[in-house]
Amino acid sequence: MTDTDFDQQHIWHPYSSMPSALPAYPVKSASGVMLTLDDGRELVDGMASWWCAIHGYNVPQLNEAIENQLENMAHVMFGGLTHEPAVELAKKLVSITPEKLQSVFFADSGSVAVEIALKLALQYWHAKGDTQRQKFLALKGGYHGDTFAAMSVCDPVSGMHAMFNEVLPVHYFADAPSGQHNAQYTDADLNSFKQQIEQHHRKLAAVILEPIVQGAGGMRFYAPQFLQDVRALCDKHGVLLITDEIATGFGRTGKLFACEQANITPDIMCVGKALTGGYISLAATLMSNEIAGTISGGEPGLFMHGPTFMANPLACAVANASIELLLNSPWQQRVSNIETQLLRELKPARDLKQVKDVRVLGAIGVIETHQAVDQTAMCQAFVDAGVWVRPFSNLVYIMPSYIIEPDELTKLTSAMLHVVSRA
Ligand SMILES: *Cc1c(COP(=O)(O)O)cnc(C)c1O
Repeated sequence: MTDTDFDQQHIWHPYSSMPSALPAYPVKSASGVMLTLDDGRELVDGMASWWCAIHGYNVPQLNEAIENQLENMAHVMFGGLTHEPAVELAKKLVSITPEKLQSVFFADSGSVAVEIALKLALQYWHAKGDTQRQKFLALKGGYHGDTFAAMSVCDPVSGMHAMFNEVLPVHYFADAPSGQHNAQYTDADLNSFKQQIEQHHRKLAAVILEPIVQGAGGMRFYAPQFLQDVRALCDKHGVLLITDEIATGFGRTGKLFACEQANITPDIMCVGKALTGGYISLAATLMSNEIAGTISGGEPGLFMHGPTFMANPLACAVANASIELLLNSPWQQRVSNIETQLLRELKPARDLKQVKDVRVLGAIGVIETHQAVDQTAMCQAFVDAGVWVRPFSNLVYIMPSYIIEPDELTKLTSAMLHVVSRA
């Protein structure tokens, strides 16, 4: 049995079946924006490993950071102990996120960071003695992870709430705004959210949403004005606001964090994905002193969470190096150049009969087709064209590393046009 056969027969992949219908492509190595397959083929990577590898692969500064940390210690428990990589990273996160966010809870994945955010909100109200506030208000089309509490605030249809209705807590959902830009944004876009929060605010612990970009739930962008209106309504009704920046964080939309597009500050914020430049799983939940202080001053006086691998030193060290590399790079110019090129080169897709919409924001380019695409056939066609693009549902999209060169990006966009035109 070859390794590929074994993989297909015994190893689960994300959202797959067992045995898997088709083999996965074996990757031998990755460097810069290129993936090298076992058979020697080289692919320009359009996915940045799901938003993560913002500096590309095999980055000397990141390799060095992790190697240096390895010589000191790979891991140590975080209960009762601390270490320089974690302190340094917390300092950085506190300084680059909105000022009100002053304390950091480290977690091992984005979904867990979301669990923590939801739990913080519940414990905050518990500490204040308000036992009514046990529900969350989220947006339709949202995605916040695959664990149960995270799943309960994902879009109810794509999050398959019906299948899990015996175990999933039931929360409230508002329509996401329909327009992409402030110019297209009207009062009608706020109606559903306004109605939900007005009706349910006494039961709401928090609102949770992805700022500006709804990622895995549909790759949709919405107007910063909506976020401002949401913040104002949360304030008016005394509801906490959690922003999930796991996909949008670290420059992807053209601002370091997407909430800066609307100049708003959440009460709780989740980061993950690009935090370590795509090296190791690490996420964090940041919160205001009001949240941290209220929880700590109430009953039981502790926040009831503590992952085994909390603040893993290797992960923190590489996250520090990644943030430094980002901030010392011309990332704004790079993301803006990618945006300009994507706008220009994806525009012709609008004329294809298969295409419903083309949208670009920062280093994110999306072609939405009328019908769901054949993911496997399309991946194969992209590999044949020398690129790595993995569509889902009716979305053919890329979010490349910021270091991608114009000719490499052109290879991705022309493959997208070519493959979609033949679908
Ligand atoms: C990917 C993602 C998550 C989940 O992160 P994992 O590390 O996969 O658990 C949560 N929220 C958003 C917005 C994401 O894009």
